[in-house]
Amino acid sequence: MDLLNTLVDKGLRRETPTREEALAVLATSDDDLLDVVAAAGKVRRHWFGRRVKLNYLVNLKSGLCPEDCSYCSQRLGSKAGILKYTWLGPGEASQAAAAGVAGGAKRVCLVASGRGPTDRDVDRVSQTIKAIKDENEGVEVCACLGLLSEGQAERLREAGADAYNHNLNTSEATYGDITTTHTYADRVDTVRKAHAAGLSACSGLIAGMGESDEDLVDVVFALRELDPDSVPVNFLIPFEGTPLAKEWNLTPQRCLRILAMVRFVCPDVEVRIAGGREVHLRTMQPLALHLANSIFLGDYLTSEGQAGKADLEMIADAGFEVEGTDRVTLPEHRAGGGCGPDRADGVCGSHGSGNGCGSHGSDGGCGSHGSGDGCASHEDGAGRAAQDGEEAPGSVPGAGGPRTDLVAVRRRGPGTDLAPNA
Ligand code: SF4
Repeated sequence: MDLLNTLVDKGLRRETPTREEALAVLATSDDDLLDVVAAAGKVRRHWFGRRVKLNYLVNLKSGLCPEDCSYCSQRLGSKAGILKYTWLGPGEASQAAAAGVAGGAKRVCLVASGRGPTDRDVDRVSQTIKAIKDENEGVEVCACLGLLSEGQAERLREAGADAYNHNLNTSEATYGDITTTHTYADRVDTVRKAHAAGLSACSGLIAGMGESDEDLVDVVFALRELDPDSVPVNFLIPFEGTPLAKEWNLTPQRCLRILAMVRFVCPDVEVRIAGGREVHLRTMQPLALHLANSIFLGDYLTSEGQAGKADLEMIADAGFEVEGTDRVTLPEHRAGGGCGPDRADGVCGSHGSGNGCGSHGSDGGCGSHGSGDGCASHEDGAGRAAQDGEEAPGSVPGAGGPRTDLVAVRRRGPGTDLAPNA
């Protein structure tokens, strides 16, 4: 297909596709899906080989947020039955982080619900960063604390943070439909602050919130312009008890096309499959490793992921390898500077010095926090959500409809007495 040949050539040269080409990827048919994956897979392997970076989430403060992000189980007025707790101490957070590192994670993502940190919160997180770094040599720490005020990014950098996550989540045109308590411009501002302070920028999106293909292309092009080093791609987890609980509109095929489009637009950037991986890609998860070079290990902020051991087995079975701390994730031209894909000369792009970085996700990290990584409301004793109605014997549960059976509230790890999943 001419489109795919063109996109591979551009991806290998770090050249931006046109909007029309990005839209065309999202419009490909299921018959062409494996060709799309193979093409984007060439670009992924060119820049990242067969390595998969593992990231581990530690939810430092869960629930009780005053913001109203519609996708989020921790939002104002959320009826989702998630764990709610205030700040974990440095020792408890470090213990959780150590479990992730022992499971193979090279980055720990410290996330806290809320509009943004107070200066006292920055002090707390600084102590936690120090505790984690003292105990885990070579680990990268990313903070995801919401909107930053002047000077806070610099203080986190001084405390040893490597990166900052703040997601754009959706297009500027639709942002007001998703959240009313802060703006798209607020989010852009925080990503820029982190970047300017020398933090590696991590900023991504949430798909599946009812957006159009144009919205998805808009947000991915906006991310390319902001030039983060890592782009988490969340797939909405429609938690019962949140306004987007009925938005079950993703298929595994759609998720693969979205990941391929992100890879073509951001070819040399760490593309991470974030919240909703198990819920929406389901048995197609291994194919997505041909597109993304990074995933979260184990559980998310407020929902449970598949067992960490299953993540590791999937990576090995699909012919990939876990990236060790001895390897630099980004290609050489980006290392240490957050340089963007258009800089053929290796000179940093539009946002000055620094390493660049992002926000909180859709439970898959940090979106502004999470993709609905909240959780489902009707969980049974095992933490699994109960379905309306019974499935016929031998049928595929919930095929073509809501898969609340796949959404489980996190009941282990930080904020509980049970061991983390890593
Ligand atoms: S995404 Fe972050 S800011 Fe928005 S409601 Fe959730 S915890 Fe609050």
